[in-house]
Amino acid sequence: MGGRNPHKVPAEMNVAWMTKAACRGFPTEWWFPERGERATKALFICEACPVREQCRQFALSDTALHGIWAGGTEAQRRSERRRRRKKERARPSQEGT
Ligand code: SF4
Repeated sequence: MGGRNPHKVPAEMNVAWMTKAACRGFPTEWWFPERGERATKALFICEACPVREQCRQFALSDTALHGIWAGGTEAQRRSERRRRRKKERARPSQEGT
C-alpha cells in the first residue's frame, strides 16, 4: 500500500464497507489530482468498485472530504447536495396531515 489512502479516515468515521474498497493499496495521489489534471486511474478503479454506492453516500454526507470519492469530484458532490436540498424543499410538507 503506497502512501496515504483516501479511506484512511479517523477511526470514528471508519466503516466496514471501507475494507472492500477497490482503492486500497493504490497510491493516494491518484484520488487527489492537481488542478487541471484528470484522475483517469482513480475513475477507472472507482468504476468497478464493489462499494461505490456506500462510498458515494458517505462522501455526500461529509462536506469536509476532498478529492475523488466514488468516481465523483468535490464539485460534483456539491452539485448533488444542492439537487437534493432543492428536491427536499419541493417536497410537500407532511406536517398537519
Ligand atoms: S468508489 Fe472509489 S473512492 Fe470509493 S471506495 Fe471505491 S475505489 Fe475507493
